[in-house]
Amino acid sequence: MKKITKIVLFTILLLSIIFYFITLIVPKIIDKQRNEIRVKGPYVASQEAENMYKSLNFIADLHCDALLWKRDLLKDNDFGQVDIPKMLKASVGIQAFTIVTKSPKGQNFDKNSANSDNITSLFLVQGRPSNSLTKRAVLQCEDLFNFAKKSDGKFRVITSSTDFKNYLADRKSKNNITAGFLGVEGAHALDGKIENVQLLYDNGVRMMATTHFFDNKLGGSAHGVSGAGLTDFGKDVILKMNVLNMIIDVAHGSPKLIDDILKISEKPIISSHTGVKGTCDNVRNLSDKHIKAIANSQGLISIAMFKQAVCGTDASATAKAIKYVSDLVGVQYVALGSDFDGSVITPFDITGLPLIVEELMKLDFTSNEIQKIMGGNVKEFLLKNLP
Ligand SMILES: [Zn+2]
Repeated sequence: MKKITKIVLFTILLLSIIFYFITLIVPKIIDKQRNEIRVKGPYVASQEAENMYKSLNFIADLHCDALLWKRDLLKDNDFGQVDIPKMLKASVGIQAFTIVTKSPKGQNFDKNSANSDNITSLFLVQGRPSNSLTKRAVLQCEDLFNFAKKSDGKFRVITSSTDFKNYLADRKSKNNITAGFLGVEGAHALDGKIENVQLLYDNGVRMMATTHFFDNKLGGSAHGVSGAGLTDFGKDVILKMNVLNMIIDVAHGSPKLIDDILKISEKPIISSHTGVKGTCDNVRNLSDKHIKAIANSQGLISIAMFKQAVCGTDASATAKAIKYVSDLVGVQYVALGSDFDGSVITPFDITGLPLIVEELMKLDFTSNEIQKIMGGNVKEFLLKNLP
C-alpha cells in the first residue's frame, strides 16, 4: 500500500473515532443545558396532596419533546424532565411525545424567519444527519416504538382507541405499566407534501400541530413574520387529518390560523401546551375567544409548566391558568401540557406532578375536578377521538 493511501485511511479512521465520541458526549451536554429543572427531586407535596395524587385514576400530559434529544428513555436519567422510569414512578397513564423537526436560530417569542435551523447540527452531532424534516420525524417515531419493544412490556405506544381500551383494561391488573402516543410539533415535518400526512400516520403519529416557531407552507406561526391564516395547502392538510382522525393541535398558531382551523375542522381541536392571556398576556398564549372556541369544538386546553407560558416559575402559576380556563369554559376542557424537555426550564421533572395537585387543592378544586384535570379529560378525549 502506498504511504499516501495509508495516511488517508488512518485519517479517515481517526476522524470516524472522533466523530463517534462526539455523538456520545455532545448530545448529552446539549440536552442537559436545554432542559433544566428549577429544583431537583424528590418532590414533597403535602400529605393530603400525595394521597389525592395516589387516588387519581389516570394521569396524562399532552406535550413533551423528549424524543428530540436522543436520550435513552429506558434509563432513569439524572437529567431531563421525562423518561420511562420517571413516568412509572409518577404513575403516568399517558404522555404525548411530540416531535420537533426544525427550530430557527435565535428562537424567540416575537419574530422568527424560516431561513435558519438548529436541528440540522443537533441531528448531525447525534449521528443521525438528515435534511428531510419528514425523515427526522420518522426517526423519532421509530425511537419511541423501539423503547416500547425494549421495555419488557412496561411501556407501550398507543395508536388506536382499541389499543387504548386494552391498555386501560390492563392497567386495572398491572400497576407497573405506562404509555405514550406520538405527536408532531409543526407540520413543516411534511416537507410540503400532502401524502406525508399519511406517511406520518403510518409511522404512528396521531396528533399534529400546524406550526411551530416560524411560518410554514400551512400558514402563520404566533412567532413568525406573516401572521397569516391557513393556506390552501394548510386547508388540505387539516381536512386530511380529519379524515384520518389525527388530532389537530393549534399550539404556536397565529390567531388568524387558529380562527381558520376552527372554521374548517369537523373534529375537536386541542392546544397541546399553552398558557392563557387571562393570566399571562403574550403572543404564545390563548385569548378568551380561542379558549371558548376550542371548548366549543369539544377539545382541550392543556396548560404548560414554564415561565413564558404561565408567567410564574412554580406549580401555582400553572394551577392559576387551569383555574382561569375552568372558570371560563368548564373544568372538562382543561388538561396538562407541560412542554417537558421542550428547551424550557420547568419547576420539576415529571415526578413532581403531585405539586400541581397541591396547588389545585389550594384553589378549592374538588377531588372529582382534580381527577379530570390531571388526566380524566385526556382519557375521555382519546377514547372518543383516536382512530
Ligand atoms: Zn412548543
